Amino acid sequence: MASRSRVIAVVNQKGGVGKTTTAVNLAACFAASERATLLVDLDPQANASSAFGIGDTPRQVYDAIIGRCVIKDVACPTALSHLHVVPAGQDLVGAEVELVSAMSRERRLESALADVREDYELIVIDCPPSLGLLTLNALTAADSILIPLQCEYYALEGLARLLETVDLVRAHLNPGVALEGIALTMVDLRNNLSRQVEREVRGHFGEKVYRTRIPRNVRLSEAPSHGKPIILYDIQSRGAVAYLRLAEEVLSGIGQVGPPRKPPELPAPGAETGESPVASGGPDLPEESDLSEGGVR
Ligand code: ATP
Ligand code: MG
Repeated sequence: MASRSRVIAVVNQKGGVGKTTTAVNLAACFAASERATLLVDLDPQANASSAFGIGDTPRQVYDAIIGRCVIKDVACPTALSHLHVVPAGQDLVGAEVELVSAMSRERRLESALADVREDYELIVIDCPPSLGLLTLNALTAADSILIPLQCEYYALEGLARLLETVDLVRAHLNPGVALEGIALTMVDLRNNLSRQVEREVRGHFGEKVYRTRIPRNVRLSEAPSHGKPIILYDIQSRGAVAYLRLAEEVLSGIGQVGPPRKPPELPAPGAETGESPVASGGPDLPEESDLSEGGVR
């Protein structure tokens, strides 16, 4: 019996803290434990798409957000039978601007995801590094948010603003959105500062901080250029072990009890070849995507 999925937005407006690495690898680990999983790339940088070797697709998340097609038309299969990816692309930059004057502009993603919520057990959204309209759409569509936090000096900077934004979303758009948890990323246990920041974060957020820490691990940074999540690139690596543990912790926090489930059949691709188009040159999209205007006021 199908049940509604859990939609988790991986969010932090700070750039380069491990959002995409966490979204990609958690989604892959959920899928590896036979949970029907959908990863939605909501960042114009399209790093989560290229992490699966998905390049320029004729249609992408933007088309679904503006209602030109449905999510099932854009979802791509992956090497993991239980994981589909909704890719992003450059068009998404336009969405931020075009949606400003649109009706229900914060609810576009929520509406787009509505008809696949019965099909997937977990829907993971990779957000861009801003609190703009795209992130607002993710927060409105989500049941919960997962915040990757890099254990460095300014880790907590910006977190207050993010949590304020979540409060605003809760008050006006999505009363049910919860804090799923905080994941410590790129942790270097030999580093005093890393340990100090960890103590501070745990002191502040207690049980909301996952016990599993994601270590700094070079294999994690190599995997995307091979178009693979870490569990398919190097299952023995410390990064793979950590993300498998984190996924287990997230799932036990959610209390998923249903039997393992396959994702739906995807419609036969139209203009596409049927295989995921392979990215030509890896993640060479613009670094800068400051879309912070047009967000929460
Ligand atoms: P953006 O804000 O630009 O979307 P992000 O928050 O999604 O960035 P990532 O892209 O996941 O962050 O990570 C930033 C960089 O750090 C990438 O090059 C990634 O490969 C690398 N990285 C992420 N996590 C780790 C880790 N645990 N160990 C080593 N490298 C990592
Ligand atoms: Mg990213």
